[in-house]
Amino acid sequence: MNIKKGDTVKILAGKDSGKTGKVLAIDIKKERLIVEGANMFKKHNKPKRQGEKGSIVNVSRSMDASNALLICPRCGQPTRVGHKIEGAKKLRTCKKCKSTI
Ligand SMILES: [Zn+2]
Repeated sequence: MNIKKGDTVKILAGKDSGKTGKVLAIDIKKERLIVEGANMFKKHNKPKRQGEKGSIVNVSRSMDASNALLICPRCGQPTRVGHKIEGAKKLRTCKKCKSTI
């Protein structure tokens, strides 16, 4: 997976298609990510005690990483990620402006 926590991504599919947001969490094994403000759904909390009211909270659902494209912080364009090896480090590069991300 080429996307990391803290990256900004453009969403390519689903009801939030076209939106951009910051990646809040990733699941490397499942290749899923949670994007701020995207894929929201309302979660209804049942009252726990008698006389208490239930509440509705907005929660972000994870989405498949393949439905998001990284936005390059250098050129601001949604881009595919390339890789470059520099010493022992594996670096990500923007395919559009060729800079290291
Ligand atoms: Zn770029």
